[in-house]
Amino acid sequence: MTIGFASGCLFAEKRSVGLTVHVRAVSPEACPALVLNADFRPLSYYPLSIWCWQDAIKAVFLDRVNIVSLYDLTVRSPSFEMRLPSVVSLKTYVKPSRFPAFTRFNVFLRDRFTCQYCGERDELTFDHVVPRSKGGLTSWENVVAACSCCNLKKGDLLPAAARMWPATMPFQPTVHDLHQNGRLFPPNYLHESWMDYLYWDSELEP
Ligand SMILES: [Zn+2]
Repeated sequence: MTIGFASGCLFAEKRSVGLTVHVRAVSPEACPALVLNADFRPLSYYPLSIWCWQDAIKAVFLDRVNIVSLYDLTVRSPSFEMRLPSVVSLKTYVKPSRFPAFTRFNVFLRDRFTCQYCGERDELTFDHVVPRSKGGLTSWENVVAACSCCNLKKGDLLPAAARMWPATMPFQPTVHDLHQNGRLFPPNYLHESWMDYLYWDSELEP
């Protein structure tokens, strides 16, 4: 999507980190910067590495990043003005993590937003394969996406007792695994200036 600007003269004024922001219709809060590593790949995919505009500007002034692309949105202080960066790249390469964060979204993405017991895609929730009451951990290896119906049915039982086994036993996915599934579920909030830096590397993977 692109950040849209209203044609009217709706100005918002906001003070933050000593800057006055004049915004037409769009708040700077809606303008995060995509953060690339020094090799111009996103620093992280899951979650996608984005910084709020204040952090992005701070990093620019600390000379830690290069500005790669800009929003059509300006922040002003008495002594300077600058357009908000939409994409920045680190000046120093950081070794990226091979493993995605253990988040709700990433568990659903690993399981392709599908109940691992019946294949349902609505009313998704989480199931501990080994119930917590039986010592099961909340971890990549023990949590699967499950619809609320299956969750209720399985209750506090072990898979053998419930006769319910996940279609795929839960595992710690790699970024690559989530990439594969992520192509099926493209994110719907991406500034157009980010597109050049997302997915281009994954396209080349076999
Ligand atoms: Zn189900």
